Amino acid sequence: MYKDYNSFKKETINIVKKDLENTAWSVSRYFDINGVSDFENIRILTKNRVTIIKTDGEVLFDTDSNTKESHKYRQEVQEAINNEQGFSIRKSKTVNKKLIYYSILYSDKIILRVAAPYEIISEPLQNQIIQKLFLYLLLNLFLIFVYNYILKKYYINKIKEIKEVIESGNIPKSMYLEEDTELNDFWKVIKEWQKKNLKNIEELEKEKVKLSKLISLIDIGVIMFDEDKNILAYNREFKYSFFNNLNTLKYYEKIDCLDIIEVLNKLHSVKERLSKEIYLTDYKKYYFIKGRYLKNEKLYILSARDITQSKEIKEIEKRFISNISHELKTPLTNIKGYLIALRDEEDENIRNNFLNIAENNIEKLENIIQDFLNIQKIEASNVLNKYPTDINKLFKEILEILNGIIEKKNVDFKYELKLKGKEPVLNIDREKIKVLLKNLIENSIIYNDKKNPKIRVRIEEEESYINIYVSDNGIGIPKSEQKNIFNRFYRVDKARTSNKSGTGLGLSIVKEITELYSGIIDIRSQEGEGTTFKIKLLK
Ligand code: ADP
Repeated sequence: MYKDYNSFKKETINIVKKDLENTAWSVSRYFDINGVSDFENIRILTKNRVTIIKTDGEVLFDTDSNTKESHKYRQEVQEAINNEQGFSIRKSKTVNKKLIYYSILYSDKIILRVAAPYEIISEPLQNQIIQKLFLYLLLNLFLIFVYNYILKKYYINKIKEIKEVIESGNIPKSMYLEEDTELNDFWKVIKEWQKKNLKNIEELEKEKVKLSKLISLIDIGVIMFDEDKNILAYNREFKYSFFNNLNTLKYYEKIDCLDIIEVLNKLHSVKERLSKEIYLTDYKKYYFIKGRYLKNEKLYILSARDITQSKEIKEIEKRFISNISHELKTPLTNIKGYLIALRDEEDENIRNNFLNIAENNIEKLENIIQDFLNIQKIEASNVLNKYPTDINKLFKEILEILNGIIEKKNVDFKYELKLKGKEPVLNIDREKIKVLLKNLIENSIIYNDKKNPKIRVRIEEEESYINIYVSDNGIGIPKSEQKNIFNRFYRVDKARTSNKSGTGLGLSIVKEITELYSGIIDIRSQEGEGTTFKIKLLK
């Protein structure tokens, strides 16, 4: 545009110069004809300013002023003196305006100068600039249009496609971007980034699954919540123990247990570590609650451990110690009392009776001590001492031990053997199996309120296992108690049986022996109808 402007300006100046040159020559023709006089008539010849200057600088005539100032050193005057013609564009001191001057040396003494106002050039120039500007503006608008509606749309569409691929979370496929180097490079970066991202996401997912499996499998309830009391995470144990079915994330609405909500509220307000033991009366359960506030993350974590069993065991142990002291003390007091009475008693029959009572009490003491010894023996020798054992003989011995109670309760006892060999022999740890059978049979008699307790024992030999079944038609074991009865010192409600001297150790011994055999115990029991214990032992 600048180039255009300059050449246009040059061209215009040339035209003006030519015009001034013509005017000067027509004035000079006038002087040729009329002599250098009658200056006033010059005004008729031209509208331009005409000045007649003597070569020494004196102004003879000026159409636009009466100046007397010497014009000798005006640029165009000097040029005319030296080169017969002169040209300049400058501000006129006389008329105080920018003018274009053209002068010729008319004679040795006279210089003829014609001037035109500079606007002659500047006006068309301005018009020219405005025109060009208008044109450029139009072009610009056109370019903006092209950018907005064509290029922009094109790029937006491509970026949309890329966005969709990223959002879909799929491995990016090819896209027609080859012709756009920039976009193509960008697309390559995106592809790489997306691939890495997908891999990271996959790994994170795997980690997440592992973590949630781990959390869900621990048997301690765990819950996490934020400042607004919103539940963020929890495990299965917590959900099963404390959640209701409401569709909410606020823990005080979702949790069905007031005691737990109270602890959570406290944790939320104190923002410190806390621990508390709570007892849920409705569920008869003890929980040990531990809370933590994670300062940086502004999160709360709470764990709830069911300690009912250990609490109960402690309770039972305590009860057992007082029971066992009582149990040991009762026969001892009896023995002592009857022995003292014996000293003064002369009647033979009464003396024999006293001796029998003392003897029975000693037996009772022996029983209790035997249970302890059995436990101690099993725990001390953690190995099985197996050898071929005559099962018939073994039963004989057990029945001899239990004879008193069998006769007293009029027990119908039968056992059945289904062994691999012809002989009634099994390769077993005789002493341990004897204790196991004795305890199970004894229980099936004791916990039986029928007039004729029916006890059936069956021993089956398999390729790798020995199965022992002990069935009775006794009082049965409630389902809720079946998991507890193998705990040491555990006794189901004593009120339901006349056996006051039980130690709660019999079945725990059975369990320990079975575990030594890498075996399993199965109970089938119906309250009021009877119980079957199945002991499966690895040969
Ligand atoms: P104890 O007989 O000394 O109480 P055990 O460990 O032998 O201790 O048995 C634990 C509890 O299991 C008993 O208190 C009893 O209530 C119950 N039990 C065991 N065997 C039977 C059975 N055959 N029938 C019913 N209840 C039984």
